[in-house]
Amino acid sequence: MAACIFCKIIKGEIPSMKLFESEKTLAFLDIGPLSYGHSLIIPKYHGAKLTDIPDDQLSEIMTVTKKIASASGAENYNILQNNGRAAHQEVDHVHFHMIPKPNAEEGLVIGWPAK
Ligand code: C5P
Repeated sequence: MAACIFCKIIKGEIPSMKLFESEKTLAFLDIGPLSYGHSLIIPKYHGAKLTDIPDDQLSEIMTVTKKIASASGAENYNILQNNGRAAHQEVDHVHFHMIPKPNAEEGLVIGWPAK
């Protein structure tokens, strides 16, 4: 979709810190990270909500999300996916957040790239 900010990132019209790219999926660093290494994993197919995306366009989203979480080195992390304004969705292109959490023992944020 022409006006979609994530579609512009997919096309390279807006710069991003890419972490992974394939035919169907893109992962990049969140521009407003909640923690060090906060990443977004998105299908290249445009759809606002999870229920708008055909199954075949979502087939590798979880394995890529797992890959990003693993590569971040974070011991603790949240996977988050918002759908609709009341659910705090701001960008209307399906995306999965991978949010590393601070290491409870050391009080340090461990995230991408692994330290
Ligand atoms: O789930 P929600 O729609 O609220 O999250 C959108 C996310 O997209 C935010 O974390 C925001 O920082 C991120 N974003 C981004 N690059 C942009 C615009 C938004 O990483 N150009």
